[in-house]
Amino acid sequence: MLVVLLGPPGAGKGTQAKNICKNYKLFHFSTGDILRNEIEKNTEIGKKIKSIINAGQLVSDEIIINIVEKIVSINLKKNNGILFDGFPRNLDQANAFHELLNNIEKKIDCVLHLSIDKNEVIKRIKKRAVEENRKDDNTEVLKSRIDVYLKETSPLIELYKKEKVLKKINGMETIENVSLNINKVLDLIN
Ligand code: ADP
Repeated sequence: MLVVLLGPPGAGKGTQAKNICKNYKLFHFSTGDILRNEIEKNTEIGKKIKSIINAGQLVSDEIIINIVEKIVSINLKKNNGILFDGFPRNLDQANAFHELLNNIEKKIDCVLHLSIDKNEVIKRIKKRAVEENRKDDNTEVLKSRIDVYLKETSPLIELYKKEKVLKKINGMETIENVSLNINKVLDLIN
């Protein structure tokens, strides 16, 4: 099963991703976690992307696609599938993803769109800034991450709606209820 989690920063993707991967034995592929790890280890990629991530901008598609190709080929056979958390994030990435899956005769089974209000986004990220100390969780950078989401990522909602794989999930409910609603959707596919 190949599942994509789509939603603005602070929608609860990370929290729900953990539940989904545990319940359905999927590999959790978080591009954000992988990129932050590269920065922490100060790798060549890490050095290149540090300032981009800390400014709330998108890392180049080339770097992302390379990572995706590697992760997909390693993890596809090992698990019951993969949960893509934070990818694709723009139309070019979605097209490259489509091509990559086509080549291995796979397709996306479901895109979960976690939706929340803008005010709630700001409230949640401010709380997370205190708890997790992420450099990109401050008000100024958050503004650009929201802008990037609206401009670059949100068009994917229409794309996947057209492809009939989109399921909208209300991210304003409690963590438990969001999780239950996701399970209802994925039980029908699994
Ligand atoms: P959030 O969704 O809460 O903003 P993520 O952990 O998914 O956080 O991503 C953090 C940052 O990592 C993004 O702001 C961006 O700079 C970078 N990033 C993550 N995924 C991608 C991607 N698919 N393409 C480009 N940049 C990405």
